[in-house]
Amino acid sequence: MSEFALYNTMSRRVEPFAPADGETVRMYTCGPTVYKPAHIGNYRTFLFEDLLRRTLRLRGWRVVQVMNLTDVDDKIIKNADEEGRSIREITEPITELFHRDRRYMRIEDAEVYPKATEHIPEMITLVGQLMERGLAYRAEDGSIYYAISKFAEYGRLSRLDTRTIKPGARVATDDYNKEDVRDFALWKAAKPEDERTGAAWDSPWGRGRPGWHLECSAMAMKYLGKTLDLHCGGVDLIFPHHEDEIAQSEGATGVPFARLWCHGEFLLVEGSKMAKRVGNVVTMETLREQRIPGVAARHLMFGVHYRQQLNLKDEALEGSVQAVRRIGEFADRLSKARGGTPELARAGEDAERDVRAALFDDLNAPRARAALDVFIRRANAELDRNGSDRAALDRARASFDTIDGVLDLTPRPQDADGDDNARLEREQLAKWVEERLAARREARAARDFSLADSIREEIEHRGIEVKDGPGGTEWRVVRGG
Ligand code: AMP
Ligand code: ZN
Repeated sequence: MSEFALYNTMSRRVEPFAPADGETVRMYTCGPTVYKPAHIGNYRTFLFEDLLRRTLRLRGWRVVQVMNLTDVDDKIIKNADEEGRSIREITEPITELFHRDRRYMRIEDAEVYPKATEHIPEMITLVGQLMERGLAYRAEDGSIYYAISKFAEYGRLSRLDTRTIKPGARVATDDYNKEDVRDFALWKAAKPEDERTGAAWDSPWGRGRPGWHLECSAMAMKYLGKTLDLHCGGVDLIFPHHEDEIAQSEGATGVPFARLWCHGEFLLVEGSKMAKRVGNVVTMETLREQRIPGVAARHLMFGVHYRQQLNLKDEALEGSVQAVRRIGEFADRLSKARGGTPELARAGEDAERDVRAALFDDLNAPRARAALDVFIRRANAELDRNGSDRAALDRARASFDTIDGVLDLTPRPQDADGDDNARLEREQLAKWVEERLAARREARAARDFSLADSIREEIEHRGIEVKDGPGGTEWRVVRGG
């Protein structure tokens, strides 16, 4: 088995990586704050994590990924209060939208999506442990703060100059910057707006609510244990969020919180950081409206390494729309071909090897994407020769399936769930299946069973299950083909 290496933000180096138990990678990925639709910048981070989980599986490991949903924090409460609603009324529809949008981008389901509001007891326990260990204290405002000067390792991840730490200086907001290193709130005493919006719970320290950082520590350790294999997020989370997660978790357990930290760089829009607060937000809704398939956005983002900034430009997105169309045409051609050549199989094997090597080397998506391009070019030339080698064709199909199982760039009918294009494509697919099944019936009636079988294979290759029953033949889509 080949090596797998990943850049570790803690050491600032690319390091060999394997799960602690040799089998299952336990990874925690900080999820969205569900108060507004996530923007395409957020999805760049979620997409890099999706590529990571798929690559880990390609490498032969199982993956347990936890992605939290932040459904209580300063911004959510502010929004809810302004609209005279509860935080739940704000977060529930946005959570649904998040899942819909991430499916649009073909971001696989994580194994667990824990919500902060459903883990308050775990968070209270963690605060209790930090109080017992003398790392947390109650301030005059009734809130509980973390005493960062008592945690010797504070600032290691973000390479903070800890000499600037002023013991006892506090910050109550969830987010703050490096110039503002202070004791941060673990548990915030309830304010009237917290009570009004349903964001206050009982605790040994009175009514209150958890700080954002606390949430991730409590849920990560609940589902993945005291030491995770991987902890990921966007670069903006290195400080203070991940620094504070480390302080809370290691402060309570005394063992390393994560074996490796990985962070994805930002997506910029014409040079400036995309953020929900700034006007330059492109959401999945924008993509859907403009009929840009999620796979095109995947393609675009895989064109730049995850540790480099990506500047979103319309022309590039247009280029990716064309590129995935070509990938789709190739997939179609490969599935309809009747035979191949030994060179076709070799093209597939070469591409598969190159894709593995690229992804196992710190997730080099641009190189993997380029290897797929080479495959398609070589394979198209071979398919022009109308070869009859069935086994070679099967091998090439298997290589393509392996590569596409990780990059997932082939457009398919159910992509744009619900929009007109998708409906049209679904109808076309149904028409095609019915037409092929009719041809199969004819072949069977003519006792040409080998033709009938090859038609069945052709249908199944497009991800459709065919079942012959007493009432006739039934079919259904089981995966994107
Ligand atoms: P949030 O909902 O703001 O907590 O962000 C969810 C995830 O998106 C976090 O991992 C952030 O680091 C990441 N993120 C936020 N903005 C961007 C951006 N412009 N580009 C890439 N990732 C981002
Ligand atoms: Zn987090």
